[in-house]
Amino acid sequence: MQTAVLPMTVCDVIDKKIRRFVWGGEEGQAKVHLVKWETICRSKDDGGLGLRSARALNLAYLMKLGWTFLNNENDLWVKVVQGKYVCQDARGTTTFLSKATSRLWQGIRKALPLMKQETVWDVRNGRSINFWHDQWLADGVTLKDYIAVADQDIDWNASMADMATATGMEAPRLELGEDVTLWGREKDGRFQLSSAYTAAAEWLEDIQDEETVNGKRSHWKHVWKWQGPNRIKHFLWLAAHDRLLTNSERKRRKLCTNDICDMCKQAAETTEHIIRDCPEAKEVWQKLGIGETTLTCGLGFAEWMSKHLQEEKTGAIFGVAAWYLWKRRNEWIFEKQFQKASMLAYRIQSWTSTIKLAQENDAKLHAPPQKKSRADLAWEPPADGWVVVNTDGSVRQPDSLAAAGGLIRDNSGRCLAAFVGNLGVSTVTRAEIKGAIQGLQTAWSRGYRKVHLQVDSMTTYLFFTAKDHNNDRFYNLATQKSK
Ligand SMILES: [Zn+2]
Repeated sequence: MQTAVLPMTVCDVIDKKIRRFVWGGEEGQAKVHLVKWETICRSKDDGGLGLRSARALNLAYLMKLGWTFLNNENDLWVKVVQGKYVCQDARGTTTFLSKATSRLWQGIRKALPLMKQETVWDVRNGRSINFWHDQWLADGVTLKDYIAVADQDIDWNASMADMATATGMEAPRLELGEDVTLWGREKDGRFQLSSAYTAAAEWLEDIQDEETVNGKRSHWKHVWKWQGPNRIKHFLWLAAHDRLLTNSERKRRKLCTNDICDMCKQAAETTEHIIRDCPEAKEVWQKLGIGETTLTCGLGFAEWMSKHLQEEKTGAIFGVAAWYLWKRRNEWIFEKQFQKASMLAYRIQSWTSTIKLAQENDAKLHAPPQKKSRADLAWEPPADGWVVVNTDGSVRQPDSLAAAGGLIRDNSGRCLAAFVGNLGVSTVTRAEIKGAIQGLQTAWSRGYRKVHLQVDSMTTYLFFTAKDHNNDRFYNLATQKSK
Protein backbone atom coordinates (compact mmCIF):
# COMPACT_ATOMS: atom_id res chain seq x y z
CA MET A 1 0.00 0.00 0.00
CA GLN A 2 2.88 2.36 0.69
CA THR A 3 4.99 2.22 -2.46
CA ALA A 4 2.82 0.86 -5.28
CA VAL A 5 -0.39 1.93 -6.97
CA LEU A 6 -3.11 -0.44 -5.78
CA PRO A 7 -5.62 -1.42 -8.45
CA MET A 8 -8.98 0.30 -7.92
CA THR A 9 -10.72 -3.06 -7.57
CA VAL A 10 -8.45 -4.08 -4.68
CA CYS A 11 -9.18 -0.77 -2.92
CA ASP A 12 -12.88 -1.26 -3.46
CA VAL A 13 -12.83 -4.76 -1.96
CA ILE A 14 -11.08 -3.39 1.16
CA ASP A 15 -13.63 -0.57 1.44
CA LYS A 16 -16.51 -2.97 0.95
CA LYS A 17 -15.36 -5.09 3.86
CA ILE A 18 -15.10 -2.02 6.11
CA ARG A 19 -18.55 -0.81 4.99
CA ARG A 20 -20.08 -4.14 5.85
CA PHE A 21 -18.50 -3.96 9.28
CA VAL A 22 -19.94 -0.45 9.87
CA TRP A 23 -23.51 -1.25 8.89
CA GLY A 24 -23.58 -4.90 9.88
CA GLY A 25 -24.72 -7.72 7.63
CA GLU A 26 -23.17 -10.97 6.43
CA GLU A 27 -21.59 -11.93 3.14
CA GLY A 28 -24.23 -11.93 0.39
CA GLN A 29 -26.85 -10.32 2.63
CA ALA A 30 -28.11 -6.86 1.76
CA LYS A 31 -28.23 -4.27 4.54
CA VAL A 32 -29.22 -0.66 4.17
CA HIS A 33 -26.17 1.61 4.17
CA LEU A 34 -27.66 4.80 5.50
CA VAL A 35 -24.83 7.20 4.70
CA LYS A 36 -22.69 6.99 1.60
CA TRP A 37 -19.14 5.76 1.92
CA GLU A 38 -17.55 9.01 0.70
CA THR A 39 -19.31 10.89 3.50
CA ILE A 40 -18.28 8.34 6.13
CA CYS A 41 -14.67 8.76 5.03
CA ARG A 42 -14.67 12.47 5.77
CA SER A 43 -13.31 13.78 9.05
CA LYS A 44 -15.74 14.01 11.96
CA ASP A 45 -15.72 17.80 11.68
CA ASP A 46 -16.84 17.48 8.08
CA GLY A 47 -19.72 15.19 8.93
CA GLY A 48 -17.99 11.84 8.45
CA LEU A 49 -16.85 9.14 10.85
CA GLY A 50 -13.17 9.69 10.10
CA LEU A 51 -12.72 6.30 8.39
CA ARG A 52 -10.26 6.15 5.54
CA SER A 53 -11.00 5.04 2.04
CA ALA A 54 -8.42 2.68 0.58
CA ARG A 55 -8.10 4.63 -2.66
CA ALA A 56 -7.35 7.92 -0.91
CA LEU A 57 -5.04 6.28 1.61
CA ASN A 58 -3.07 4.63 -1.18
CA LEU A 59 -2.77 7.97 -2.93
CA ALA A 60 -1.67 9.66 0.31
CA TYR A 61 1.12 7.09 0.76
CA LEU A 62 2.21 7.66 -2.83
CA MET A 63 2.33 11.39 -2.13
CA LYS A 64 4.56 10.69 0.84
CA LEU A 65 6.82 8.68 -1.41
CA GLY A 66 6.79 11.43 -4.03
CA TRP A 67 7.53 14.09 -1.45
CA THR A 68 10.53 12.14 -0.20
CA PHE A 69 11.64 11.68 -3.81
CA LEU A 70 11.48 15.39 -4.65
CA ASN A 71 13.07 16.62 -1.43
CA ASN A 72 15.90 14.15 -0.82
CA GLU A 73 17.85 14.20 -4.02
CA ASN A 74 21.00 12.98 -2.32
CA ASP A 75 19.45 9.66 -1.27
CA LEU A 76 20.81 6.78 -3.30
CA TRP A 77 17.41 5.41 -4.32
CA VAL A 78 16.36 8.88 -5.45
CA LYS A 79 19.51 9.19 -7.58
CA VAL A 80 18.81 5.80 -9.14
CA VAL A 81 15.19 6.63 -9.95
CA GLN A 82 16.13 10.08 -11.25
CA GLY A 83 18.86 8.63 -13.40
CA LYS A 84 16.41 6.23 -14.91
CA TYR A 85 13.25 8.28 -15.35
CA VAL A 86 13.99 12.00 -15.09
CA CYS A 87 15.44 14.08 -17.91
CA GLN A 88 16.46 17.69 -17.90
CA ASP A 89 16.84 19.66 -21.10
CA ALA A 90 19.49 22.32 -21.69
CA ARG A 91 17.33 24.96 -19.98
CA GLY A 92 16.97 22.84 -16.91
CA THR A 93 13.30 22.01 -17.55
CA THR A 94 12.50 18.70 -15.96
CA THR A 95 10.66 15.98 -17.84
CA PHE A 96 9.41 12.83 -16.17
CA LEU A 97 9.49 9.82 -18.43
CA SER A 98 6.42 7.67 -18.33
CA LYS A 99 7.02 4.65 -20.51
CA ALA A 100 8.46 1.29 -19.44
CA THR A 101 8.39 2.09 -15.77
CA SER A 102 8.61 0.29 -12.47
CA ARG A 103 5.72 0.13 -9.99
CA LEU A 104 7.59 2.52 -7.72
CA TRP A 105 7.89 5.12 -10.45
CA GLN A 106 4.28 4.63 -11.50
CA GLY A 107 3.31 5.38 -7.91
CA ILE A 108 5.38 8.55 -7.76
CA ARG A 109 4.02 9.72 -11.12
CA LYS A 110 0.47 9.19 -10.03
CA ALA A 111 1.00 11.41 -7.01
CA LEU A 112 2.96 14.17 -8.80
CA PRO A 113 0.06 16.28 -10.17
CA LEU A 114 -1.65 16.37 -6.78
CA MET A 115 1.62 17.12 -5.01
CA LYS A 116 2.26 20.00 -7.37
CA GLN A 117 -1.11 21.38 -6.40
CA GLU A 118 -0.35 21.07 -2.68
CA THR A 119 3.18 22.45 -2.83
CA VAL A 120 4.00 26.07 -2.10
CA TRP A 121 7.38 27.60 -2.73
CA ASP A 122 9.67 29.51 -0.45
CA VAL A 123 11.43 31.73 -2.99
CA ARG A 124 15.24 31.82 -2.76
CA ASN A 125 17.10 32.12 -6.07
CA GLY A 126 13.92 31.59 -8.10
CA ARG A 127 15.47 29.13 -10.55
CA SER A 128 13.32 26.11 -9.71
CA ILE A 129 10.02 27.96 -9.63
CA ASN A 130 7.81 28.26 -12.68
CA PHE A 131 6.67 31.86 -12.72
CA TRP A 132 3.17 31.11 -14.04
CA HIS A 133 2.28 27.64 -12.84
CA ASP A 134 3.84 27.28 -9.38
CA GLN A 135 2.36 28.51 -6.12
CA TRP A 136 4.78 31.04 -4.75
CA LEU A 137 2.33 33.78 -3.78
CA ALA A 138 1.23 33.94 -0.16
CA ASP A 139 -2.42 33.04 -0.71
CA GLY A 140 -1.71 29.81 -2.57
CA VAL A 141 -2.81 30.94 -6.04
CA THR A 142 -0.87 30.75 -9.29
CA LEU A 143 -0.40 33.66 -11.63
CA LYS A 144 -1.80 31.56 -14.45
CA ASP A 145 -5.19 31.83 -12.66
CA TYR A 146 -5.14 35.56 -13.37
CA ILE A 147 -4.53 35.30 -17.09
CA ALA A 148 -7.91 35.66 -18.77
CA VAL A 149 -6.85 35.23 -22.38
CA ALA A 150 -3.99 33.03 -23.51
CA ASP A 151 -1.42 35.38 -24.95
CA GLN A 152 0.80 33.90 -27.60
CA ASP A 153 3.73 35.90 -26.33
CA ILE A 154 3.72 34.43 -22.83
CA ASP A 155 6.59 32.06 -22.15
CA TRP A 156 4.77 29.53 -19.95
CA ASN A 157 8.00 27.76 -19.01
CA ALA A 158 9.71 30.85 -17.65
CA SER A 159 11.19 30.53 -14.18
CA MET A 160 11.04 33.33 -11.64
CA ALA A 161 14.69 34.09 -12.28
CA ASP A 162 14.02 34.36 -16.05
CA MET A 163 11.12 36.72 -15.51
CA ALA A 164 13.14 38.89 -13.17
CA THR A 165 15.78 39.31 -15.84
CA ALA A 166 13.23 39.94 -18.59
CA THR A 167 11.03 42.43 -16.75
CA GLY A 168 13.47 44.12 -14.46
CA MET A 169 11.35 43.37 -11.40
CA GLU A 170 12.93 42.74 -8.04
CA ALA A 171 15.28 39.82 -8.57
CA PRO A 172 15.14 36.71 -6.40
CA ARG A 173 18.12 36.59 -4.08
CA LEU A 174 20.73 34.33 -5.55
CA GLU A 175 22.77 34.22 -2.36
CA LEU A 176 19.96 32.35 -0.57
CA GLY A 177 20.55 29.23 -2.62
CA GLU A 178 18.01 26.79 -4.03
CA ASP A 179 14.27 27.38 -3.72
CA VAL A 180 12.53 25.38 -1.02
CA THR A 181 9.30 23.42 -1.36
CA LEU A 182 6.80 23.54 1.49
CA TRP A 183 3.78 21.33 2.11
CA GLY A 184 0.94 23.81 1.75
CA ARG A 185 -1.47 22.05 4.10
CA GLU A 186 0.67 22.38 7.20
CA LYS A 187 1.65 25.61 8.89
CA ASP A 188 5.24 24.50 9.34
CA GLY A 189 5.45 23.37 5.71
CA ARG A 190 6.37 19.81 6.66
CA PHE A 191 4.70 16.91 4.93
CA GLN A 192 2.11 15.07 7.04
CA LEU A 193 0.41 11.88 5.97
CA SER A 194 -2.86 12.93 7.61
CA SER A 195 -3.17 16.14 5.59
CA ALA A 196 -2.01 14.30 2.49
CA TYR A 197 -4.91 11.92 3.07
CA THR A 198 -7.34 14.84 3.28
CA ALA A 199 -5.92 16.26 0.05
CA ALA A 200 -6.17 12.88 -1.65
CA ALA A 201 -9.76 12.32 -0.49
CA GLU A 202 -10.80 15.76 -1.72
CA TRP A 203 -9.00 15.18 -4.99
CA LEU A 204 -10.81 11.89 -5.48
CA GLU A 205 -14.19 13.10 -4.41
CA ASP A 206 -13.92 16.83 -4.96
CA ILE A 207 -16.08 17.57 -1.96
CA GLN A 208 -18.43 20.34 -2.86
CA ASP A 209 -21.37 19.41 -0.65
CA GLU A 210 -23.21 22.14 1.08
CA GLU A 211 -21.88 21.05 4.48
CA THR A 212 -18.30 21.99 3.83
CA VAL A 213 -18.89 25.18 1.89
CA ASN A 214 -20.96 27.88 3.61
CA GLY A 215 -18.91 27.40 6.80
CA LYS A 216 -21.25 24.76 8.19
CA ARG A 217 -18.58 22.46 9.53
CA SER A 218 -19.46 23.42 13.08
CA HIS A 219 -22.69 21.38 12.88
CA TRP A 220 -20.71 18.23 13.03
CA LYS A 221 -18.41 19.45 15.73
CA HIS A 222 -21.37 19.91 18.05
CA VAL A 223 -22.65 16.44 17.37
CA TRP A 224 -19.34 14.89 18.35
CA LYS A 225 -18.74 17.29 21.23
CA TRP A 226 -22.10 16.45 22.78
CA GLN A 227 -21.55 14.88 26.20
CA GLY A 228 -23.41 11.61 26.28
CA PRO A 229 -23.36 7.96 25.26
CA ASN A 230 -21.76 7.12 21.93
CA ARG A 231 -24.81 5.34 20.59
CA ILE A 232 -26.78 8.59 20.93
CA LYS A 233 -23.97 10.52 19.26
CA HIS A 234 -24.13 8.16 16.31
CA PHE A 235 -27.89 8.55 16.23
CA LEU A 236 -27.50 12.35 16.21
CA TRP A 237 -24.96 12.06 13.42
CA LEU A 238 -27.41 10.02 11.31
CA ALA A 239 -30.25 12.42 12.14
CA ALA A 240 -28.19 15.48 11.15
CA HIS A 241 -27.46 13.76 7.83
CA ASP A 242 -31.21 13.12 7.47
CA ARG A 243 -30.45 9.45 7.07
CA LEU A 244 -32.69 7.77 9.62
CA LEU A 245 -34.84 5.10 8.03
CA THR A 246 -37.99 7.19 8.18
CA ASN A 247 -40.94 6.51 5.92
CA SER A 248 -39.74 9.23 3.55
CA GLU A 249 -36.28 7.70 3.38
CA ARG A 250 -37.77 4.22 2.92
CA LYS A 251 -39.94 5.53 0.09
CA ARG A 252 -36.90 7.16 -1.50
CA ARG A 253 -35.13 3.82 -1.37
CA LYS A 254 -38.25 2.13 -2.79
CA LEU A 255 -38.70 0.04 0.36
CA CYS A 256 -42.29 1.26 0.77
CA THR A 257 -44.82 3.44 -1.04
CA ASN A 258 -46.37 5.43 1.80
CA ASP A 259 -44.33 8.14 3.53
CA ILE A 260 -47.00 9.52 5.88
CA CYS A 261 -46.21 9.87 9.60
CA ASP A 262 -47.86 6.99 11.41
CA MET A 263 -48.42 8.97 14.61
CA CYS A 264 -50.11 12.18 13.44
CA LYS A 265 -51.06 11.06 9.91
CA GLN A 266 -50.69 14.69 8.86
CA ALA A 267 -47.44 14.95 7.00
CA ALA A 268 -44.62 13.02 5.39
CA GLU A 269 -42.46 11.31 7.99
CA THR A 270 -39.01 12.84 7.65
CA THR A 271 -36.29 13.04 10.28
CA GLU A 272 -37.17 16.60 11.11
CA HIS A 273 -40.84 15.72 11.30
CA ILE A 274 -40.29 12.97 13.89
CA ILE A 275 -37.89 14.98 16.00
CA ARG A 276 -39.16 18.52 15.56
CA ASP A 277 -42.31 19.19 13.61
CA CYS A 278 -44.72 16.36 14.45
CA PRO A 279 -47.41 17.60 16.92
CA GLU A 280 -46.56 14.60 19.10
CA ALA A 281 -42.92 15.72 19.25
CA LYS A 282 -43.82 19.34 19.92
CA GLU A 283 -45.80 18.29 22.96
CA VAL A 284 -42.76 16.52 24.37
CA TRP A 285 -40.52 19.55 23.77
CA GLN A 286 -43.06 21.71 25.58
CA LYS A 287 -43.13 19.37 28.55
CA LEU A 288 -39.35 19.59 28.68
CA GLY A 289 -39.49 23.38 28.67
CA ILE A 290 -37.82 23.72 25.29
CA GLY A 291 -40.58 25.90 23.94
CA GLU A 292 -42.41 26.38 20.67
CA THR A 293 -40.66 29.63 19.80
CA THR A 294 -37.19 28.14 19.75
CA LEU A 295 -38.48 25.15 17.81
CA THR A 296 -39.66 27.19 14.87
CA CYS A 297 -37.12 29.93 14.57
CA GLY A 298 -36.60 29.30 10.87
CA LEU A 299 -33.39 27.28 11.11
CA GLY A 300 -32.54 24.38 8.85
CA PHE A 301 -32.82 21.06 10.65
CA ALA A 302 -29.09 20.34 11.03
CA GLU A 303 -28.54 23.93 12.11
CA TRP A 304 -31.39 23.66 14.60
CA MET A 305 -29.91 20.48 16.08
CA SER A 306 -26.47 21.98 16.28
CA LYS A 307 -27.79 25.10 18.01
CA HIS A 308 -29.59 23.10 20.66
CA LEU A 309 -26.83 20.55 21.22
CA GLN A 310 -24.38 23.29 22.15
CA GLU A 311 -26.71 24.94 24.70
CA GLU A 312 -24.97 24.72 28.03
CA LYS A 313 -28.06 24.10 30.14
CA THR A 314 -30.31 22.14 27.81
CA GLY A 315 -27.82 20.53 25.39
CA ALA A 316 -27.68 17.25 27.30
CA ILE A 317 -31.44 16.81 27.55
CA PHE A 318 -31.89 17.86 23.93
CA GLY A 319 -29.75 15.00 22.62
CA VAL A 320 -31.46 12.46 24.85
CA ALA A 321 -34.90 13.77 23.87
CA ALA A 322 -34.17 13.54 20.14
CA TRP A 323 -33.06 9.95 20.63
CA TYR A 324 -36.14 9.07 22.69
CA LEU A 325 -38.47 10.59 20.09
CA TRP A 326 -36.95 8.28 17.50
CA LYS A 327 -37.15 5.34 19.93
CA ARG A 328 -40.82 6.08 20.61
CA ARG A 329 -41.55 6.18 16.89
CA ASN A 330 -39.97 2.73 16.48
CA GLU A 331 -41.78 1.29 19.48
CA TRP A 332 -45.02 2.54 17.95
CA ILE A 333 -44.33 1.17 14.47
CA PHE A 334 -42.89 -2.19 15.45
CA GLU A 335 -44.50 -3.00 18.81
CA LYS A 336 -47.66 -0.86 18.71
CA GLN A 337 -46.72 0.68 22.05
CA PHE A 338 -47.17 4.40 22.39
CA GLN A 339 -45.58 6.54 25.12
CA LYS A 340 -47.55 9.64 26.00
CA ALA A 341 -45.70 12.95 26.05
CA SER A 342 -45.69 13.28 29.85
CA MET A 343 -44.32 9.76 30.35
CA LEU A 344 -41.72 10.23 27.63
CA ALA A 345 -40.64 13.57 29.11
CA TYR A 346 -40.22 11.87 32.49
CA ARG A 347 -38.09 9.10 30.96
CA ILE A 348 -35.98 11.68 29.11
CA GLN A 349 -35.40 13.73 32.24
CA SER A 350 -34.49 10.78 34.42
CA TRP A 351 -32.17 9.34 31.81
CA THR A 352 -30.47 12.70 31.35
CA SER A 353 -29.82 12.96 35.08
CA THR A 354 -28.48 9.41 35.12
CA ILE A 355 -26.06 10.33 32.34
CA LYS A 356 -25.00 13.50 34.14
CA LEU A 357 -24.48 11.63 37.40
CA ALA A 358 -22.42 8.98 35.66
CA GLN A 359 -20.30 11.69 34.04
CA GLU A 360 -19.74 13.44 37.36
CA ASN A 361 -18.69 10.20 39.01
CA ASP A 362 -16.46 9.43 36.09
CA ALA A 363 -14.86 12.87 36.32
CA LYS A 364 -14.27 12.40 40.06
CA LEU A 365 -12.79 8.98 39.48
CA HIS A 366 -10.35 10.29 36.90
CA ALA A 367 -9.53 13.57 38.62
CA PRO A 368 -5.89 13.91 39.68
CA PRO A 369 -5.50 13.21 43.42
CA GLN A 370 -5.74 16.42 45.36
CA LYS A 371 -3.04 17.33 47.77
CA LYS A 372 -4.33 17.28 51.31
CA SER A 373 -4.78 20.89 52.14
CA ARG A 374 -3.65 22.04 55.48
CA ALA A 375 -5.08 25.30 56.68
CA ASP A 376 -2.61 27.91 57.72
CA LEU A 377 -2.81 27.82 61.46
CA ALA A 378 -1.68 30.62 63.67
CA TRP A 379 -2.13 30.83 67.38
CA GLU A 380 -4.93 33.21 68.21
CA PRO A 381 -5.01 34.81 71.63
CA PRO A 382 -8.38 34.46 73.42
CA ALA A 383 -10.40 37.33 74.83
CA ASP A 384 -9.54 38.74 78.23
CA GLY A 385 -10.19 36.29 81.08
CA TRP A 386 -10.21 33.22 78.79
CA VAL A 387 -7.59 30.53 78.32
CA VAL A 388 -6.74 28.54 75.19
CA VAL A 389 -6.24 24.78 75.15
CA ASN A 390 -4.17 23.56 72.17
CA THR A 391 -4.04 19.79 71.80
CA ASP A 392 -2.75 17.22 69.35
CA GLY A 393 -2.68 13.45 69.07
CA SER A 394 -0.55 11.07 67.03
CA VAL A 395 0.05 7.39 66.38
CA ARG A 396 3.44 5.75 65.98
CA GLN A 397 3.86 3.16 63.24
CA PRO A 398 4.24 0.23 62.94
CA ASP A 399 3.07 -0.60 66.47
CA SER A 400 0.11 1.88 66.45
CA LEU A 401 0.96 3.22 69.90
CA ALA A 402 -0.87 6.50 70.36
CA ALA A 403 -0.09 9.56 72.44
CA ALA A 404 -1.73 12.94 72.97
CA GLY A 405 -0.63 16.17 74.57
CA GLY A 406 -1.23 19.89 74.72
CA LEU A 407 -0.76 23.32 76.27
CA ILE A 408 -2.96 25.72 78.17
CA ARG A 409 -2.15 29.39 77.65
CA ASP A 410 -3.59 32.74 78.70
CA ASN A 411 -4.34 35.57 76.33
CA SER A 412 -0.77 36.90 76.48
CA GLY A 413 0.49 33.51 75.26
CA ARG A 414 1.98 32.56 78.65
CA CYS A 415 1.99 28.82 79.26
CA LEU A 416 -0.21 27.91 82.24
CA ALA A 417 0.03 24.13 82.00
CA ALA A 418 1.23 21.32 79.74
CA PHE A 419 0.14 17.73 79.59
CA VAL A 420 1.02 14.55 77.72
CA GLY A 421 -0.19 10.98 77.95
CA ASN A 422 0.21 7.59 76.33
CA LEU A 423 -3.00 6.05 75.06
CA GLY A 424 -1.87 2.53 74.16
CA VAL A 425 -2.81 1.10 70.77
CA SER A 426 -5.22 3.48 69.08
CA THR A 427 -6.09 5.41 65.93
CA VAL A 428 -5.15 8.97 65.03
CA THR A 429 -8.77 10.13 65.34
CA ARG A 430 -9.15 8.67 68.83
CA ALA A 431 -5.80 10.11 69.87
CA GLU A 432 -6.84 13.59 68.63
CA ILE A 433 -10.17 13.41 70.48
CA LYS A 434 -8.68 11.98 73.65
CA GLY A 435 -6.01 14.70 73.62
CA ALA A 436 -8.69 17.37 73.37
CA ILE A 437 -10.68 15.84 76.21
CA GLN A 438 -7.58 15.53 78.34
CA GLY A 439 -6.86 19.22 77.63
CA LEU A 440 -10.34 20.24 78.73
CA GLN A 441 -10.14 18.07 81.88
CA THR A 442 -6.78 19.59 82.82
CA ALA A 443 -8.14 23.11 82.33
CA TRP A 444 -11.25 22.26 84.35
CA SER A 445 -9.26 20.71 87.20
CA ARG A 446 -7.12 23.86 87.40
CA GLY A 447 -10.15 25.99 87.86
CA TYR A 448 -10.41 27.57 84.41
CA ARG A 449 -14.05 27.97 83.40
CA LYS A 450 -13.68 30.15 80.27
CA VAL A 451 -11.85 27.82 77.90
CA HIS A 452 -11.22 27.94 74.14
CA LEU A 453 -10.27 24.62 72.55
CA GLN A 454 -8.09 24.79 69.43
CA VAL A 455 -7.48 21.60 67.46
CA ASP A 456 -6.01 20.91 64.01
CA SER A 457 -8.25 17.93 63.27
CA MET A 458 -11.55 18.37 61.43
CA THR A 459 -12.85 15.09 62.89
CA THR A 460 -12.24 16.32 66.41
CA TYR A 461 -13.96 19.58 65.61
CA LEU A 462 -16.97 17.70 64.24
CA PHE A 463 -16.96 15.41 67.28
CA PHE A 464 -17.37 18.37 69.61
CA THR A 465 -19.83 20.30 67.48
CA ALA A 466 -22.10 17.47 66.27
CA LYS A 467 -25.62 17.54 67.68
CA ASP A 468 -26.25 13.82 68.18
CA HIS A 469 -23.75 13.25 70.96
CA ASN A 470 -26.22 13.14 73.86
CA ASN A 471 -25.35 9.62 74.87
CA ASP A 472 -21.66 10.03 74.49
CA ARG A 473 -19.87 9.92 77.79
CA PHE A 474 -17.41 12.60 76.65
CA TYR A 475 -19.97 14.96 75.33
CA ASN A 476 -21.06 16.53 78.62
CA LEU A 477 -17.51 17.29 79.49
CA ALA A 478 -16.86 18.72 76.04
CA THR A 479 -19.81 21.07 76.23
CA GLN A 480 -18.65 22.40 79.55
CA LYS A 481 -15.84 24.15 77.80
CA SER A 482 -17.99 27.10 76.82
CA LYS A 483 -19.87 27.42 80.11
ZN1 LIG B 1 -46.34 13.22 12.74
